Amino acid sequence: MDLTLTPAQEAFRAEVQAWLSTNLPPDWVARPVTEIPRAEMYDLGRMWQRKLHDAGLLGLTWPKEYGGRGLTWMEELIFHEEMVRHRAPPILNILGVGMAGPTITTYGTEAQKRRYLTKILTGEEIWCQGYSEPNAGSDLASLQTRAERDGDAYVVNGQKVWTSLAQIADWMMLLARTDPAAPKHKGITYFLVDMHSPGVSVRPLRQLTGDAEFNEVFLENVRVPAANVLGEVNQGWGVGITTLMYERLALGFGLQARFQMALESVVGLAKRTARNGGTAAQDPVLRQKLAQLVIDNAVFKYTGARAITRLTKGEAPAPEDSVGKIWWCERHQALQDLAQEILGPYAQLGRGSPWAVDQGIWHYSFLRSRANSIEGGTTEIQRNIVAERVLSLPKG
Ligand SMILES: Cc1cc2nc3c(=O)[nH]c(=O)nc-3n(C[C@H](O)[C@H](O)[C@H](O)COP(=O)(O)OP(=O)(O)OC[C@H]3O[C@@H](n4cnc5c(N)ncnc54)[C@H](O)[C@@H]3O)c2cc1C
Repeated sequence: MDLTLTPAQEAFRAEVQAWLSTNLPPDWVARPVTEIPRAEMYDLGRMWQRKLHDAGLLGLTWPKEYGGRGLTWMEELIFHEEMVRHRAPPILNILGVGMAGPTITTYGTEAQKRRYLTKILTGEEIWCQGYSEPNAGSDLASLQTRAERDGDAYVVNGQKVWTSLAQIADWMMLLARTDPAAPKHKGITYFLVDMHSPGVSVRPLRQLTGDAEFNEVFLENVRVPAANVLGEVNQGWGVGITTLMYERLALGFGLQARFQMALESVVGLAKRTARNGGTAAQDPVLRQKLAQLVIDNAVFKYTGARAITRLTKGEAPAPEDSVGKIWWCERHQALQDLAQEILGPYAQLGRGSPWAVDQGIWHYSFLRSRANSIEGGTTEIQRNIVAERVLSLPKG
């Protein structure tokens, strides 16, 4: 692993620094913390994504002909480091940029790449992921949504659940069964589905936080053109796994950045919260916990750097990236627990309470963090992946 920057990469860092130091949205800069409920950032995230793309700072590793910049993963790393340093907001189309785009780049026809990639980067088209079903979550290959060929289209029937952002999405990465007679990992096809097609209905699901950021999606006789199959018919399992690998990679990049920002926000909170005649930051027990999170953050960063090394050698994301997902989720939940401890009884005051600290964001983000060990594949499943595919341990 050699993280020494070339002169061109140093120049790139200077470019990102210069741009971020003058272009952050003023409303965002005024916020005391960088945590934000997703439901409150749709407009901001869309506008911010567009601005980043216009400045040539999104899709850094994507080919230039599809709206990217044709740079290496090292520039991507530099970009994320600077986003942290400048406490920048997240983008909106996270599933498009992190998952749909790289999968289309890997498996798409030339026509598909031209059709979808640039609009993913600009945020003109928002993507969601239609994988989970009421009876297929961890055991995704048991999915029952069916797609049957009818002329030049497939007719899709079934139900997806927990579909994040479906309520604002234009496109879905859909896994559906096209050969019910085949063994369950075979006979699945990956489709790119227009969410505005007749027969698609979205019903929001309210979460513990009070927000409804994910949904049930019902597909009733939805006609999907055969040209929207990504990869080969009945070979969708491999395509779908590629998306999941990129998901864990994107989680590794994006979440390390957001973890560091959240950590800085918690340190700030500790410094301004009174405790025993001083501040919470001076309390010996809380200090130890904060210091541990700072150490953990460094571990996370350098574990992530291993993934970057693999990518800079031209290799694809690997099962090892599951380690980052497990690590992030445990440490992020610990960070949110610590924020609650620092706030004491004030932690109970949520958004809407006039006495809530930081407009109740810590209350919200503590509740939201409970989902971290489920979304993107549960911690148990990530551990199974590490055990079986990284450590080659026997199946339990
Ligand atoms: C906030 C949030 C956002 C989400 N967004 C999306 C989305 O956009 N698109 C999408 O498709 N899905 C999404 N999901 C769904 C998510 O991927 C699933 O919830 C997850 O994969 C678990 O599936 P399940 O809920 O069916 O639980 P199950 O698979 O029924 O699991 C129940 C419990 O059993 C455990 N378990 C299951 N199998 C094993 C095993 N083999 N070994 C050990 N333990 C096991 C699990 O770890 C879990 O604790 C989201 C979920 C959340 C919470």
